[in-house]
Amino acid sequence: MPRQVALELELSRTQGIAPCNPLTAEATMAKMKKLEDLFHDTLKDVYFAEKKILASLPKMAKAAQHAGLKAAFEKHLGETEGQIDRLEQVFAEIDKKPQGKTCDAIVGIAKEGEEIMDKYEDMPAHDAGLLAAAQAVEHYEMTRYGTLRTWAEELGYTKSIKLLQQTLDEERATDAALTKLAKAVINLDAEKDEAA
Ligand code: FE
Ligand code: FE
Ligand code: FE
Repeated sequence: MPRQVALELELSRTQGIAPCNPLTAEATMAKMKKLEDLFHDTLKDVYFAEKKILASLPKMAKAAQHAGLKAAFEKHLGETEGQIDRLEQVFAEIDKKPQGKTCDAIVGIAKEGEEIMDKYEDMPAHDAGLLAAAQAVEHYEMTRYGTLRTWAEELGYTKSIKLLQQTLDEERATDAALTKLAKAVINLDAEKDEAA
């Protein structure tokens, strides 16, 4: 039950405050319905994005030259499988079957990453560019999961709140790990540059 409606019912039960007039209750329900639709659409968007990321990460791990960066991508590949599983549990809570809808943002971010990998192949900046592309992905995911978690709270999807928060924490941790690696990756590139 939407939180706002639950609150009105609680007030009427405990304090004898009559629920807002039926018209307002109706308007509230309509508003919640719109938010439910938006939640479902955004869920499809991030489901598509995660599947795209699942397909990209092995290529990124293979392309990375820095051992730490390679390991970070491999670790996140495993996490991404779990994140897709969580999204399927969120679909289950809202009684919908898991389904993706093209996310133009992730398609664009992936395309940028591929361009960098092609352009800087065998060049010192290669891993730095790859890492930057990966961070763009994590940031996109962080906005999506933050939004979905907030809407799940509003809509009272209690299981989904936890699931979405878990994934949000993983995306944040991945981003932080990449930030830590960024300097080491650039330094390794510089070393190789000197040796060349
Ligand atoms: Fe993810
Ligand atoms: Fe999107
Ligand atoms: Fe991620």
